[in-house]
Amino acid sequence: MDSIKSYTIIVDSIKTDSIKRDSIRVDSFKTIVAQQGDGIYKILRENGYPAKDYYNKFLELNRAKIKEYDNLILGETYLLPILEIKTEPNPNIYSKDSIKRNPDLMYADTVYDDQLKGAIIYLISGHGGPDPGAVAIVDGNTLCEDEYAYDICLRIAMCVEEHGGKAYMIINDPNDGLRDDKYLKVDYDEYCWPDLEIPRDQNLRLKQRADAVNDIYEKNDSVKYQRVIEIHLDSRLSSSTVDVFFYYFPGSKKGKLTAETIQNVFVEKYAKYQPNRRYTGTVGERSLLVMKKVLPPEVFMELGNIQNENDRKRVLDPENRLAIAKWITEGLINDYAKEE
Ligand SMILES: [Zn+2]
Repeated sequence: MDSIKSYTIIVDSIKTDSIKRDSIRVDSFKTIVAQQGDGIYKILRENGYPAKDYYNKFLELNRAKIKEYDNLILGETYLLPILEIKTEPNPNIYSKDSIKRNPDLMYADTVYDDQLKGAIIYLISGHGGPDPGAVAIVDGNTLCEDEYAYDICLRIAMCVEEHGGKAYMIINDPNDGLRDDKYLKVDYDEYCWPDLEIPRDQNLRLKQRADAVNDIYEKNDSVKYQRVIEIHLDSRLSSSTVDVFFYYFPGSKKGKLTAETIQNVFVEKYAKYQPNRRYTGTVGERSLLVMKKVLPPEVFMELGNIQNENDRKRVLDPENRLAIAKWITEGLINDYAKEE
């Protein structure tokens, strides 16, 4: 983390003392001007960086010039991180080639801090297997809710583990790793933890994933902080744009608190990045089968409806999917701190 500190110092010196650029060796940083359609991933990739590894460094370096959902400002100049020599890959890291169904699998390749150390987070992406969830056709591409929910869950798993927590992907797809595509390819080979085929029947399907959570929970019942996060993109109000909604099981105090704490992060982020836009997402009760059956408290999140053009913008961009994952993780960190 020392290297990040030194970046910050240099960035500050540029702001206050731009004339003396040469004397503070800013030339060791390459800069780039954001063009139409540029995002952090795109810039990093086009400049030869392993984008996932350098994303956070890019954010740290350019913090003041980053907008909501980690968007860039058109025409603004950004510093590129110094490219370090790549270390050997960790064989336990989840990747596109990874077909190993391993409980010790790590989704993050680096642990930055221990803010979630001792916490277990179960991630249920809505639908999967034979059930694609809500479907939309955009520019000739078939988009399915389950693929986007899965990608966001995978990003949450990564973020949770970057902060020292343990993440379990209850719905898994061995050949879909992190995908930075706008249009995620549809497939039907997701399975339920540990290696169960997902049934067509809705009740069986929901019961199966709740049982999967409870099986893991029972082996870890001494762990105090455990939460289930379920992600959907088929909000019932598909005709109008909707904000992110949070639900907990009626009467669940912990579920309510966790939902409110995550929602607070969304309220803060909207106030910070889009002060003129009123955030109207709410926290409410909902009696749903999975939430009813799982032993740890659950927060069920509707991130909008994939069939709505405006809602869709929130998830088609991979950088937005990562931003959402980070906000949810930030909420979990705040919630965990309250419990301790
Ligand atoms: Zn759904």
